[in-house]
Amino acid sequence: PRASVETPAASGKSVENVVIIGSGPAGYTAAIYAARANLKPVVFEGYQVGGVPGGQLMTTTEVENFPGFPDGITGPDLMDRMRRQAERWGAELFLEDVEHIDVKSNPFTIRSSEREVKCHSVIFATGATAKRLRLPREDEFWSRGISACAICDGASPLFKRQVLAVVGGGDTATEEAIYLTKYARHVHLLVRGDQLRASRAMQDRVYNNPNITLHFNTEAVDVVSNTKGQMSGILTRRIDTGEESVLEAKGLFYGIGHSPNSQLLQGQVKLDSSGYVLVEEGTAKTSVEGVFAAGDVQDHEWRQAVTAAGSGCIAALSVERYLVRND
Ligand code: FAD
Repeated sequence: PRASVETPAASGKSVENVVIIGSGPAGYTAAIYAARANLKPVVFEGYQVGGVPGGQLMTTTEVENFPGFPDGITGPDLMDRMRRQAERWGAELFLEDVEHIDVKSNPFTIRSSEREVKCHSVIFATGATAKRLRLPREDEFWSRGISACAICDGASPLFKRQVLAVVGGGDTATEEAIYLTKYARHVHLLVRGDQLRASRAMQDRVYNNPNITLHFNTEAVDVVSNTKGQMSGILTRRIDTGEESVLEAKGLFYGIGHSPNSQLLQGQVKLDSSGYVLVEEGTAKTSVEGVFAAGDVQDHEWRQAVTAAGSGCIAALSVERYLVRND
């Protein structure tokens, strides 16, 4: 059921080819491909991160691993370029959060606070949110000592050759700790419980790594700074004795997991037990025909800008094929 788009989506009267939800690398890449395929995509960018579009990279400074930028690029600059590229090819962008979706029958219904749009296909690219500890000084030191992504930040001059700490006891935390030992002088792993929850293989790698010190029954209470206002340590507390002490460290990495932003799809497409959208392996297809997912909302493993962009591309090309097939 391919629509001819005569009325702009703003009026809510037409049936759109495709609505893209999300403005991270996945959403904008999908928008670029769909727009270039002349599908006139409608994008709901969302304003969840500080009222600006662009997703998670809006909260970071340098992005050093996105191909094509040998000298690095700031997160906001990268996202602004993707946004402009999508606009240039004719994507229609709305800076609104989607509040309700109905994909039980086609055409699907997408509703924001401002409008309701009918469409034949949806690309769901709402990303994920790294879980935070909500330490008292967390906002002050976010990106200035506290991070939720070792792969993104581990090699930065702020952390290189420093003593660092990772919080968590599962696969994410152990992976972050092992990864950080490539750059850091030493890594402390702070685990609330009395054992690791990570897979046996990951546990062995941690136990066999002389550059990781494990602290069981230990939680991070807050960040400690020096007289220059730089992060200098972590106030920790023993869960069993309540004893508090300061662990010297220049960085604190959260390895306590991510929450996929998939609430809108609950009860409509299949999600895994952690809430990630289930897609057919190697594709962007969800359990509902015409509904596609891309980026971190369907990826609990890689979570990188370039992988999100790649899956946004797959989703848009899949939409194109789907619409042609159902023409
Ligand atoms: P996101 O970037 O999470 O974007 C999701 C979008 O969906 C947002 O725009 C949000 O507003 C929108 N949205 C959510 N709900 C709704 C709704 N209901 N309606 C409308 N819109 C909605 N990766 C790298 O490769 N290199 C790095 O250096 C790097 N650094 C990072 C630094 C930090 C601090 C963080 C947090 C992540 C970093 N990452 C990095 C990871 C990277 O940002 C993510 O993998 C990537 O942004 C995922 O893209 P995405 O498009 O799936 O989702």
